[in-house]
Amino acid sequence: MTTSLRPLVFDNRFVRELPGDPDPRNTRRQVLGAAWSAVEPTPVSAPSLLAHAADVAELVGFAPGDPAHPDFARVFGGNALMPGMQPYAACYGGHQFGHWAGQLGDGRAITLGEALNARGERWELQLKGAGPTPYSRTADGRAVLRSSLREFLCSEAMHHLGVPTTRALSLVRTGDAVLRDMFYNGNAALEPGAIVCRVAPSFIRFGNFEIFAARDDAALLTRLVDFTIARDFPHLSGDAASRRVAWLHEVAERTAQLMVHWMRVGFVHGVMNTDNMSILGLTIDYGPYGWVDNFDPGWTPNTTDAQGRRYRFGQQPLIAQWNLVRLAEALITVIPDEATLQSAIDHYATVYAREYEAMNRAKFGLLPGDEDADELVREGYALLYDAEMDFTRFFRALGDMPDTLSGHDPLALLGDVFYDDARRDAARERLTAWLARWHGRVSAQPRSASERRAAMHAVNPWFVLRNYVAQQAIDAATAGDDSLVHTLLEVLRTPYDEQPAHTALTGRRPDWARHKAGCSMLSCSS
Ligand code: AMP
Ligand code: MG
Repeated sequence: MTTSLRPLVFDNRFVRELPGDPDPRNTRRQVLGAAWSAVEPTPVSAPSLLAHAADVAELVGFAPGDPAHPDFARVFGGNALMPGMQPYAACYGGHQFGHWAGQLGDGRAITLGEALNARGERWELQLKGAGPTPYSRTADGRAVLRSSLREFLCSEAMHHLGVPTTRALSLVRTGDAVLRDMFYNGNAALEPGAIVCRVAPSFIRFGNFEIFAARDDAALLTRLVDFTIARDFPHLSGDAASRRVAWLHEVAERTAQLMVHWMRVGFVHGVMNTDNMSILGLTIDYGPYGWVDNFDPGWTPNTTDAQGRRYRFGQQPLIAQWNLVRLAEALITVIPDEATLQSAIDHYATVYAREYEAMNRAKFGLLPGDEDADELVREGYALLYDAEMDFTRFFRALGDMPDTLSGHDPLALLGDVFYDDARRDAARERLTAWLARWHGRVSAQPRSASERRAAMHAVNPWFVLRNYVAQQAIDAATAGDDSLVHTLLEVLRTPYDEQPAHTALTGRRPDWARHKAGCSMLSCSS
C-alpha cells in the first residue's frame, strides 16, 4: 500500500551495498552470510499519531503540514510504505551482561530506508515495535506505550542537552494491546502498544561487527567495516588499511566523549551491552535507563542489573572501554595488529580522562589552571553522596550562589537538594567548609560572577527527564491525556534555560516515587 504523502528521497545504501538474506520468509532463525533480512512491518489495528518532533520531521525532509496527514500515522505505525522505502532488519550479535549472546539482531526494529534531505544529510528511519522479524527469537516484535514514550521523549531530551543520540520522529499508538510481564513475576497483563520511529545517520552497533567475527566470516566483516567507513565516516582518507585504523580511533574517541556527556548530565543507560553501543558514539536503545536523582555512583535503574550492578552510573566509562575491547577483538582479522588495536583502547582512556576532568571543572565553575580544582571536585562529589543531595539541582544551585556567602546559612542557599535530613546534618560542617573554599576560589577568578554563572548553567541542565516525571506522562497518556507529553516535548527543547512556569517538572524525586515502579528502577520488559 502506498501513500499520498509528499515523497522523500531515499538512498538505501545498507541494503544496496551489503549482502542480504536470500530467504524471504519472516521466520525466526539464524541468518548466515548476510547483514540484513528484508521484512515488512506487520500492520496494526488503528495507528494514530500521539506526538512527533517537528524538527526531526523537517530534518528527514517532511514539510510542516505532513505529520498531520493521516498517512503519516499509517506509515509510521507500519501500515503503509512510502515510495523508495526498502524495509529490513539488521543482523547483529552482542555481549550481554559480560557474556557472548550469539545472534540478536533487530528483533523488533525495522529500518524503512535512508532518507536524504535537501542538505544532503542521510537519516535512517527505523520503526521500533513494528512486528516480528527473523531476529525476534521468542519475543513478539512489539513495544508497549510506556517504553516507547520513554524512548521518544528521552532521545529528544538528550539531543537538546547536547548529548549525541538517536533522534525520534514520531510516536504512534497502534490500537492493539501487547502482553507483558512488567515485573517478571508471572503476572502478565495487556498494555497499550505503540511504535516509535527513531532516526539516526546510522544504526550500526558494535554487535554488527561482532557477529561476523564470531562466525569467522572475515570477508563479510571486512565488507561491513569498509562500508561503515565509506557511508558513516566519509571524512576519513588514505588507503583502506590506514582508514580502518583511523576509524577505530575515532570510534574510541566518540565513545569517550559520549561517556563524558552521560556523566555530566547524570544519565544511566542501564543496558550497556555491546549490541546497544552505536558505532557513531550515539546514545542508542533507550530501555530501563534513568537519571541520577540523589547522587550515587553505585545506582543502576535496571532491575535486571540490581544484583551485579554492572551498568551502574559510575561504572559506565569502564564498561564502554570493556565494550570497545570486544569490538577491537572482533576486528583482529581486519586490523591484524594487536598494538594498533590496543592503541585505540588507550586512546579511549586518554580522551576520557582528559575530557572528564575538563567537564568536571566546568560543572563546578572552576577554571583550568586552578590548583585546588581536583580536590574541590573530589570532595564535592563525596559530599553530594554523603549528604544525599540531588545531582541536577545541586549544580544549578551552585551556579546560582550569591556573590557573598556572609550573612547566609550556606546550606539554605542550596535549597531543596537534600533527600535525607539526617545525612544533611551529619555533613553540615564539611559542606559549609567546602562551600566557603569553593566560593573563595570562584571569587578570585578573572571573570564576573554573572559570567561564571552563565558558564555553569550552560553545562548544568535545569531540566532532565526524571523517571518519575516520565512516568506521570505515561500514566496520563495511558488514560488518554497526552497533554503532559506535549508539555515535556516543549520543555526539553531548552533544558539549560530556567522555565519558571514548569518548575514543578524539575523537583527532586518525591518520596512517593522512591520505590514506585517506573519512577526509580525499571525492568527490561518493554
Ligand atoms: P534490548 O535489551 O532491548 O537491547 O534487546 C536485546 C535483543 O532483544 C535485541 O535483539 C532486540 O531486538 C530483542 N528484543 C527485545 N524486545 C523484543 C520484542 N518485544 N520482540 C522481539 N525482539 C525483541
Ligand atoms: Mg538493544
